[in-house]
Amino acid sequence: MMQKTTTATGDAAAEIYPLPPMPASDVTPSHPRYLSLMARERIVQGVEAGIASPHGLIAHGRGEAFDYLLNERTHDFASGAVDAGVALLLAARHPVISVNGNVCALAAEELCALAAATGAKLEVNIFHTSAARELAIRSYLERAGAQEVLMPSRTHALQHIDHNRRWIHPEGIHLADVVCVPLEDGDRCQALIRNGKKVVTIDLNPMSRTARAATVTIVDNLTRCLPLMVARAREWQGREESLSEITSGWDNEAALSAAEAALRRMS
Ligand code: ATP
Repeated sequence: MMQKTTTATGDAAAEIYPLPPMPASDVTPSHPRYLSLMARERIVQGVEAGIASPHGLIAHGRGEAFDYLLNERTHDFASGAVDAGVALLLAARHPVISVNGNVCALAAEELCALAAATGAKLEVNIFHTSAARELAIRSYLERAGAQEVLMPSRTHALQHIDHNRRWIHPEGIHLADVVCVPLEDGDRCQALIRNGKKVVTIDLNPMSRTARAATVTIVDNLTRCLPLMVARAREWQGREESLSEITSGWDNEAALSAAEAALRRMS
């Protein structure tokens, strides 16, 4: 029987169950599919810990299939998108990173590092409604080093979307000019764009509605490209003025075509 604990916010409403350490596996680094298996382990443990939903397992499997076809490596079209996405986040007035269960389970530490390096706020937003899971995600992000984690409000909503994901924080996505939404579904990405936001997404499927609607789509595994984004953001900090060429010259359609061509060559 797990004991209740309180999150770093000290918020009485934020009582949640402690999460087990991640990941605990007997897969050794010498295994040829070590990284892929560790990511799978993280998602499974994320579900067990109440961070990710069981539906997240299926979404992860879809990502794995695309990654397999992409040879599980970061291609040039993804490196270019990493630069464009980081440039957008650094040049933004109010950048926000939207965090769902899979993203938190896979890469909480790197998300916190990216938020710190770009000055972006972290905001929880999940597909399947669950207040307990929202709190578990916040708690896990805080333990991974987040200074502040915004929660969806019941006062501010995105237009053009009508389910749980429409609720946003007044000082987070509501104010944001650039939103990073890794592993997002198409409705919400399109709604963000229709609300006037620029969107940076990370999605291994270049044909998804999210990939097609976003301003910058990084077709790469979240776990591979986040460290690259953090490194780039740290390198470019303080050079925001000189980044406009990178963002204005970005051709997302060309990057998606290159990614699709790479997939078709492999399949
Ligand atoms: P859309 O609504 O945008 O057409 P979808 O319904 O396929 O997309 P989801 O099922 O919500 O969207 O899945 C999110 C996307 O995240 C999928 O395209 C999947 O390939 C991708 N994905 C899953 N795991 C990862 C990962 N680790 N890194 C990058 N992308 C991933």
